[in-house]
Amino acid sequence: MVIGGDIMEGDIRIIETDVLVVGAGGAGARAAIEAALNGCKVVISSKGHITKSGITPLAEWSYEAPLGHADPRDNSEIHFKDTVIEGRFLSDQNLVEALANDAVERVKDLEKFGVKFKKSNDKFVQTKIPGQTYPRSVMIVNGGMGMMLGLKKEINRYENIQSLEDTLITKILTKNNKVVGATFLDLKKGKFGYIKCKAIIVATGGYEQLWPVTDTPPESVGDGFALAYRAGAELVDMELLLFYPVVVVYPEHARGIIIPYECCIEPEYVGGKLVNGKKKEFLPEGSPPVRDILIRKMFDEINEGRGTKHKGIYLDLTRSPKSEEEITNYLESMISSTFRHLLELGIDIRKEPIEIAPAAHYTLGGIKINEEGKTNILGLYAAGECAGNVQGANRLSGNALTETQVFGAR
Ligand SMILES: Cc1cc2nc3c(=O)[nH]c(=O)nc-3n(C[C@H](O)[C@H](O)[C@H](O)COP(=O)(O)OP(=O)(O)OC[C@H]3O[C@@H](n4cnc5c(N)ncnc54)[C@H](O)[C@@H]3O)c2cc1C
Repeated sequence: MVIGGDIMEGDIRIIETDVLVVGAGGAGARAAIEAALNGCKVVISSKGHITKSGITPLAEWSYEAPLGHADPRDNSEIHFKDTVIEGRFLSDQNLVEALANDAVERVKDLEKFGVKFKKSNDKFVQTKIPGQTYPRSVMIVNGGMGMMLGLKKEINRYENIQSLEDTLITKILTKNNKVVGATFLDLKKGKFGYIKCKAIIVATGGYEQLWPVTDTPPESVGDGFALAYRAGAELVDMELLLFYPVVVVYPEHARGIIIPYECCIEPEYVGGKLVNGKKKEFLPEGSPPVRDILIRKMFDEINEGRGTKHKGIYLDLTRSPKSEEEITNYLESMISSTFRHLLELGIDIRKEPIEIAPAAHYTLGGIKINEEGKTNILGLYAAGECAGNVQGANRLSGNALTETQVFGAR
């Protein structure tokens, strides 16, 4: 029997395609578009609804692209250098080169797909984030959700892309070290199926849900690592995980909400302070250090007994030298969705310190790939957060969304 082009063998649905994309976040969506553009028949699968599943829809606005609009001295070589240095020289430099070389072109693609960026006089607004030599982060309007809506709109234009939502890929099938298909579970109907394909692109995000405090969604349990590993793919740097410094630990109803610290404690913007449980500042004056160094300092305070009651640190904007109006303007223009979300929960970070702590945020290790996203299994590719060794031992803010677009398209 045939249903909508698919074959039914008893209760088992069988789908034939050229390329199966596992995951429909930023990387999976971009990979599906590229494969379709090249004339392939594509199936894109997701555990939930596209635009509502995975980390990308929750992301903030920061995307690193060395356009040089804020400072003409910036370019892809400096982007490469910053990424390698801040990754503590542990990244695969061929992958970093690909990231830095393609970052700008992929922003232009996103614009074509309808994604909006903050602009001034026709130029991209570019913000400086710790670790960047020059301001490099372009600002996606409505953050990761804004990016996903543009990608979804583009996917809808292709008749050769079939979406399988609410679908869990359960196993990658190989023959003689070559991909031949995958099995899946239809989560709504509770029925199994089989996808016959020539290539699979794994784009399943990270595994942060294994940690008690994380700002990621429930889907981030690392399915892709297990799928690829069981199919014989090599994994790399699995011990490396990036924590985000400023995630709410208390009050309980706001636990897990990320507060972009770059805006809150950078003296150029809000200029708030991080203080320990004894209400003492512990960072040197000036711009905050990059994430891994900052986090180590925060953990030192917490582990040496100077943390807050809920094993955190206070983010204190009341110590900012700026007026409430200036602070509000920065919060509204740079992190408005988080600011408003907290206000809706009855928390006004302008008026009182809030307890925050580092939380599991981004999986640095993952499936080992080369510059084309290829693994050691023929026909098996990986892209986005589930691919390892792009960022090294520490990721600069904004480089993950860039990674989804660069490696999704490769
Ligand atoms: C709160 C937050 C804010 C962030 N802000 C930024 C930022 O401003 N800038 C930046 O660069 N980075 C940011 N990051 C990191 C960045 O958002 C992620 O690294 C990136 O979006 C990951 O995209 P992805 O496509 O690789 O994976 P995801 O977006 O997580 O997508 C994974 C997809 O795989 C699917 N999936 C998983 N397992 C299976 C399976 N077995 N079968 C079928 N489908 C499956 C999921 O359903 C989902 O569709 C942020 C992260 C967080 C948590």
